[in-house]
Amino acid sequence: MSKPSYEALVGTLRKTATLKSVADLVSWDQETYMVGGAAEARSDQMSLLAGMLHERQTSSELGDMIAACEEDGEVMGDELQSANVRESRRDFDLETKLPADLVAEAAKVGSQSQEAWKEARAKSEFSLFEPYMEKMLQLTRRKAECYGYAEGGELYDALLNLYEPGATAKQVEAIFAPLRGRLAGLIAELADSSSPPDESPLDISMEQARQHEFGQFVLKTMGFDLGTGRLDTTAHPFCSGIAPGDTRLTTRYGGRFTESLYGTMHEGGHGLYEQGLPKTAFHGLPVSEAVSLGIHESQSRLWENLVGRSEAFWTWAMPHARTMLNSKLKDVSVEHMYRAVNTARPSLIRVEADEATYNLHIMLRFELERAMLVGDLAVKDLPDAWNAKVQEYLGIEVQNDSEGCLQDVHWSFGLMGYFPTYCLGNLYASQFWEALQKDLPNLSDSIAAGEFGGLRGWLQENIHAHGRRYSAAELCQRATGQALSADPMMRHLEETLRPIYGV
Ligand code: ZN
Repeated sequence: MSKPSYEALVGTLRKTATLKSVADLVSWDQETYMVGGAAEARSDQMSLLAGMLHERQTSSELGDMIAACEEDGEVMGDELQSANVRESRRDFDLETKLPADLVAEAAKVGSQSQEAWKEARAKSEFSLFEPYMEKMLQLTRRKAECYGYAEGGELYDALLNLYEPGATAKQVEAIFAPLRGRLAGLIAELADSSSPPDESPLDISMEQARQHEFGQFVLKTMGFDLGTGRLDTTAHPFCSGIAPGDTRLTTRYGGRFTESLYGTMHEGGHGLYEQGLPKTAFHGLPVSEAVSLGIHESQSRLWENLVGRSEAFWTWAMPHARTMLNSKLKDVSVEHMYRAVNTARPSLIRVEADEATYNLHIMLRFELERAMLVGDLAVKDLPDAWNAKVQEYLGIEVQNDSEGCLQDVHWSFGLMGYFPTYCLGNLYASQFWEALQKDLPNLSDSIAAGEFGGLRGWLQENIHAHGRRYSAAELCQRATGQALSADPMMRHLEETLRPIYGV
């Protein structure tokens, strides 16, 4: 029997979660099926819901309920209940740390800044965005100061902590710095190859309807439940775990069919995490939620890259692709496809980067935003600093700011401390992959046979089921027996790419 103090907290958190699921549903609709004429009403609906949510999440009643639980020895002596109280405290403190006028100013300047960024990017003229970037940086600094950080830490930690709870800039740096040299070395090796993969199979055109059907078939085989989830089309793919029994994915079509397929598998990995969280048993409670963005991203990257770009996957998928997508694939061997989808080549645009070079795009953003935040880099010097790092890490030249420091939307509304989670996701994915290969020695054969149940079960048991019960670092330690390291990802990339490129 749980205590009344805990029951009261659970009751209020459940109502908040239900309200949030309404906001998420409305937001999903805006991205997918909303008719143009609804835009104004939708904006009213969304701001009303956001206001109601904020009120619930910052109410003094909620604060009192959390405090009552913290003082209740019985609640705090229960591992699961105390995890929910601890995480509720974290959420409440973060929600209540920013003064209302700062939130309002950041929202107002943020939307002006995004407009300025759009124009600056279209014209490739950083100077149009520079004054807004300057304002957003000041506001972001003020936010970080309100959030605070542990002794011995730095302002950046306050922001990173929002997305990757408990992680610090120093920890990230300690992983990224040696990784950078190893990655750059590998990419240089590949550039010297006299036999890079032939990518022509990726340019075979496919009907969109067939791709959609194939994408759903792959999702179903991965174990994504289409009875409690769905796949739609949007300009920017995403996954929304709206409520227990309701997980929605989107993908896009128009480029190479593999871009759409990997987009679908990526969101499918996020979706499996959402479907695997204990949402029914612990509805609305922190232990039913994702632990961090890095761990969330590890689930998408694992399916997209570790599974989807493996030879075993194409051994299974190729016969289906030939009948479901385009019979021209009959002329393409499994090996040819495997090589083609593992092409690695430095490029300027992060979202188009391959599995290996992607990490370098993240590292340079991490270094630049950290330098701007502490004042080591002036906003006006950002384009030059950006271009120099692209040259140094990727060995290519940026011709204009729209393919340089203006390419991502994040900084325009003050989103800093977020980028590292993309790379941490890749690192976690490879580390989980090594651990699960030890536990599932026939994994490759299973994948080649289209049997993903063992893999999904491992992820469910070791990652999904825990929600926020443990921190990301503890989860990694428990699942793999080790702290997060860059070694598994480097081993994976080297062992995959060197044979393909013959270097
Ligand atoms: Zn993702």
